[in-house]
Amino acid sequence: MPLLEESLWNSKINVNGWVPGGAGTQDVVEPATGNVLGVLGVASADDVLRASAAAAKAQVSWAAKKPEERAAVLRKAGLLWEEHAEEIDGWLVRESGGIPAKAALETHTAANECFEASALPSLPAGDVLTTNEERWSFARRRPVGVVSVIAPFNFPLILAIRAVAPALALGNAVLLKPDPRTSVCAGVSIMRIFEEAGLPEGLLHLLPGGAEVGAAVVEAPEVRVIAFTGSTAAGRKIGESAARLLKRAHLELGGNSAMIVLPGADLAKAASAAAFGSFMHQGQICMATGRHIVHQDIYEDYVAALAEKAKNLPMGDPKSGIVAIGPVIDGRQLERIDSMVQSAVAGGARLAAGGTRGEGWFYPPTVLADLDPEHDAWKEEIFGPVAPVRSFSTIEEAIEMANSSSYGLSLSILGDVGMAMKIADRVESGKVHINEQTVSDEANSPFGGVKDSGNGGRIGGAAANMEAFTETQWLTMRP
Ligand code: NAD
Repeated sequence: MPLLEESLWNSKINVNGWVPGGAGTQDVVEPATGNVLGVLGVASADDVLRASAAAAKAQVSWAAKKPEERAAVLRKAGLLWEEHAEEIDGWLVRESGGIPAKAALETHTAANECFEASALPSLPAGDVLTTNEERWSFARRRPVGVVSVIAPFNFPLILAIRAVAPALALGNAVLLKPDPRTSVCAGVSIMRIFEEAGLPEGLLHLLPGGAEVGAAVVEAPEVRVIAFTGSTAAGRKIGESAARLLKRAHLELGGNSAMIVLPGADLAKAASAAAFGSFMHQGQICMATGRHIVHQDIYEDYVAALAEKAKNLPMGDPKSGIVAIGPVIDGRQLERIDSMVQSAVAGGARLAAGGTRGEGWFYPPTVLADLDPEHDAWKEEIFGPVAPVRSFSTIEEAIEMANSSSYGLSLSILGDVGMAMKIADRVESGKVHINEQTVSDEANSPFGGVKDSGNGGRIGGAAANMEAFTETQWLTMRP
């Protein structure tokens, strides 16, 4: 039976079972065609409060379960992602506009996130501090209670499941608020997988809707921790609310990642890494290469090689064949990308490829050379298939250019490994990849950025997840 059987969720949300959303419905739109694929319920403020109260109640017995019982649900969920991958991939392609290979990566990673999380319940639950004749003292880890997960549209499944899976595994309940544009592939799918995996009712709630539903899942009284992935602007607002309410917020935010290309770097490999970094999923990736910083000796050859790649990437409806570039998520994003590119060109940038919008919500891979470093297209996150390129002459200058951004999520360095390590020591970035592209993630890696890219926490890997989704209780006893 199909996992995403529409009759199950049509016009509904999930608060202790599938029920009509209190705030009406939203269309599920296919960005490649503009077609409406279905409708999904929208949660009201009241739905959020009901979900939060139910979650807090269900969490108590979930936390008390034996570790192996929680682990078994996570393991089963991991297997189910693989079993239902074809169907979910189809939804990811249609609803988010990603190519099939990207969809397959998302379901594969979702499975891995669940398998990784299934190991968490059996980890030691804290430290023994002292045991003497008079007193025993322990620092023990306990679930936080209810966790809100707010996810963006771009890697909708990975960015939701990377918090949902460890939070549940460690004995918490979860309120899931996906992006309104990707609520079936990364909201309904997560709900249905955990239903089928046997997660007890009341522990996971699907609350679709926009920013107002996001704000409500932050404010809900039982919620103790917020795991947010999205823009820096929204993250600041959430951070402010969380601080006022004395809740913990893990904020994984925007980026404008630099790729430094050293003299002597392999040009063909550099052009491939550059095209992947800037054009993969139409550049709608937090780690997308937003600034190419290239040594002056190879600058012109690099621009030419990247432009050649850009011109040869096939663009079209990703479900219709061999396509590398699908649509961007919506018309608003398309307008933003286009106006950024046109203004950069008007300001003196050289258009080496692309720059002319396609039909509908398609934008071709675009290469902007000689960009003014004060222009927004260099300084801001474009979140579109655009590769801005500038040259440098000295290593000091390259480091200064890389660090001049307000963001600090990912950075890559291509060329001599010894020199790259010296640069890695000096750059302000949560992740550094040497001789690889800026876009890279793994289920067990501590993912996160510095400066405007996040508030310093990490999600991913046992240590970071333990820190994110548990709290420490100091417990003493006299024997
Ligand atoms: P966005 O901030 O507009 O939306 C993300 C999510 O937050 C959505 O579910 C949205 O409905 C919700 N939201 C928006 N405003 C909110 C508010 N005030 N209160 C509560 N919830 C709110 O982001 P977007 O434009 O959809 O996604 C792209 C952004 O996400 C980019 O900046 C990108 O770099 C960033 N991102 C970061 C990471 C990371 O791990 N660092 C990963 C992917 C995307």
